[in-house]
Amino acid sequence: MPDRIASLYRARLSKEKGTIRKEWGGKLSIALCYPNSYRIGMSSLGFQTIYHLLNRREEVVAERVFLPEGPELSLRLEEGKGLVSLESLSPLQRFDVVAFSLSFENDFPNILRILDLGRIPLLAEERDEAHPLVMAGGVITFLNPEPISPFFDFFLTGEAEPVLDPFLDLLSGLKRSRSPRKEILLRLAEEIPSVYVPSFYSVEYNRDGTIRERIPLESPARERIEVARLNPLCEAPAISAIRTPDTEFAGRILVELGRGCGRSCRFCAAGYVYRPPRGHPLPQILSSLQKAMSEEKKFGLMAPSISDIPGVDEVTGFILDRGGSFSVSSLRADGLTPEMIENLKRSGQKTMTIAPEAGSDRLRKVINKHLSEEQIIEAVGRIASAGQFAVRLYFLIGLPTETREDVNGILDLVKHIKHRLVKESATRGKIGQLRLSINCFIPKSFTPFQWFPMESLDTLKEKQKWLKKSLSREGGIKVNFDVAKWANMQAIFSLGDRRAAHLLRLVHEHQGDWNKARRFSEFNPDFFVYRPKDLKEVLPWDFLDHGIRKEHLIKEYKLALKGEESEPCHPGDCIRCGAC
Ligand code: SF4
Repeated sequence: MPDRIASLYRARLSKEKGTIRKEWGGKLSIALCYPNSYRIGMSSLGFQTIYHLLNRREEVVAERVFLPEGPELSLRLEEGKGLVSLESLSPLQRFDVVAFSLSFENDFPNILRILDLGRIPLLAEERDEAHPLVMAGGVITFLNPEPISPFFDFFLTGEAEPVLDPFLDLLSGLKRSRSPRKEILLRLAEEIPSVYVPSFYSVEYNRDGTIRERIPLESPARERIEVARLNPLCEAPAISAIRTPDTEFAGRILVELGRGCGRSCRFCAAGYVYRPPRGHPLPQILSSLQKAMSEEKKFGLMAPSISDIPGVDEVTGFILDRGGSFSVSSLRADGLTPEMIENLKRSGQKTMTIAPEAGSDRLRKVINKHLSEEQIIEAVGRIASAGQFAVRLYFLIGLPTETREDVNGILDLVKHIKHRLVKESATRGKIGQLRLSINCFIPKSFTPFQWFPMESLDTLKEKQKWLKKSLSREGGIKVNFDVAKWANMQAIFSLGDRRAAHLLRLVHEHQGDWNKARRFSEFNPDFFVYRPKDLKEVLPWDFLDHGIRKEHLIKEYKLALKGEESEPCHPGDCIRCGAC
């Protein structure tokens, strides 16, 4: 281990509060990997929560591993040494388990880089008893794990809390008794319904390239993998376990207020795979905040739809009354109460983010947004009259059924919003900045839009160009577009099957050169992205069981085509989708 890397790691650890250090002796050792930089990994509340949940077990030692970057990467390449953990500088190969926490498809190439730097064979079939078990958890594993399935020995699908203890009991027992690798996988598949072992299945294809069937190869392999879910949210809310200035949320403790969103936007995977919408009990949130306030006064409140969390005004009031402050990521325009705006103002929040998503009322009905232009303008009016906030707006382009009028509608809506901002701010003489974030729509598994194709790169780029030009004429509006090419890559891995793994391998072999990888790929990845899917088609992720009936998604798909909205969730009073 070169001293220079050790000193870099020591410096990093010295800035942390909450680091857990454990002796290894006889414990199940887990290298918890985040497939991106330290800064990004430590900004993930999910990653931090798993670190805490693993280490609270007496017989487990979990240490963190991140993708090296900058000086660390240069040093590592220069020294030719393998990847090590942050806490004890232990090489990746020394761990019993290498566990990835996966949140984004764009991080997939980094999984292979970490395995490579850690000197672990990339393919599960190339590993033997001398290698750690390579597993993954996180939302990607219950959206569509197939494009990365050849690289993993197994996935633990779903929310960690209800399944982690039985999983660790079994795994640590099997490790203690030195069970062979294959036996461990068989027992995990047999006893933990949310464990998915990809090598226990083969996939057969039709002549047109679609999936004919998945064939279980081993006797405990289930037809359907039951994605784990914690309902109700009975444990204390997830909260940043480690504080460090090197995150996107420096000086701020993240607190999860709830999971799932009951608004049922048809493009949003989180609104489907985290069903039903659940909030942490208010007394538990307040007691966690009370405890955390002895260390930090600033909080980032996390929930897919903050304004839908019961008692959210009590939570924000509680923080403010004790001299603290809070921030939220985005707010629904129709949930923006005067109390919430006032509390955000007292907290010093400078930017208010709302997500109209589409430019016209028609398209917002297609996506089931339940938000009219009038409501959006009203919300902006309330924000502007309360103070000089910057307003950030999220839009998607390339949504199913989108027409030229809908894209023009984005421009018209932005003009109306700007007009309202100017009008409400007249007495102040200064208006808050207007910022737009315009992203390409990517169809996601387990949503009613999973059967739609993605719009072509050329059309998306043409729409971006037109919007950029038209919005620049308005003046004073800052616009940010995502890169259509990367959205396309993300779509390949959102919608692909096992054959997409070959492309990922090529990307790795060609040092991240996607164009070259595509040229060498035997399979055209456009097949996954630009093809409308038949409602009867076997989809790569159909074997994952979230409790949501496919017929419900088909019904929502058909309503979308008719431009009709459906009711939001009413937990306790509804059995429509099957998740309650
Ligand atoms: S059953 Fe009804 S309330 Fe429950 S998640 Fe499904 S749509 Fe929402």
